[in-house]
Amino acid sequence: MAARRPLIVGNWKMNGLTASLGEARALAEKAAASRPVAELGLCPPATLVAAMANALKDSAVGADVIKVGGQDCHARASGAHTGDIAAEMLKEAGAAYVIVGHSERRADHGETSEMVRAKAAAAHRAGLIAIVCVGETLAERDAGATLKVVTAQIRGSLPDDATAANTVVAYEPVWAIGTGRTPTTAQVAEVHGEIRKDLLARFDEGAGFRILYGGSVKPDNAAELMAVADVDGALVGGASLKAADFWPIVAAKGLQ
Ligand code: PEP
Repeated sequence: MAARRPLIVGNWKMNGLTASLGEARALAEKAAASRPVAELGLCPPATLVAAMANALKDSAVGADVIKVGGQDCHARASGAHTGDIAAEMLKEAGAAYVIVGHSERRADHGETSEMVRAKAAAAHRAGLIAIVCVGETLAERDAGATLKVVTAQIRGSLPDDATAANTVVAYEPVWAIGTGRTPTTAQVAEVHGEIRKDLLARFDEGAGFRILYGGSVKPDNAAELMAVADVDGALVGGASLKAADFWPIVAAKGLQ
């Protein structure tokens, strides 16, 4: 099994207008100059997916330095689903990834693991890499239910056609997202180790899946978090909006 290539992905959430594309270009220039070993991705709002993909393609540094992703997709390829976006549409717009099952979608839109699994399968159908998010709430952690919750989400959210090439898992404790709080490195290691065990038990390629950590990753804590066993990179929200903040996180995992 080849070594897992680190992956650092920014999730812009509902932030960014056309003027923000300068941040993607600035990041691509830094990356092109230092040739990180890590794969880099940015997931802007759907309105910017095509524009960002084109901006990176047209820039001197090229689109392959940073790939673009969506933040959600519908399970169907087309149909009467007002306001939704199909994985095929993201693909055509230039996306390489799509995040599915983010805790904000699970909470704000009532998405269950069964729905997330269908979305991940849709991503695969369209030729996208699904970044499947899992993570416990604070109440679940306090109740000692973290491993049970995360394992159930992994089992429920990954479709049977998941492979190391078409699927990435992101462990994002809900209580760490956007709060400035992070788990200890021992807590991260425990959950990532459990996810790895589960992947190994279910998939032939279980050792090859990348498992990202997400939740308040910042320039000053990235090196410590990225050094934890079975942490293959990061999914980064707030700190991905500015190239100056995102770059040190990339450097923490991607420039060895
Ligand atoms: C996220 O929402 O995926 C995330 C990790 O957010 P933040 O880095 O802002 O905590």
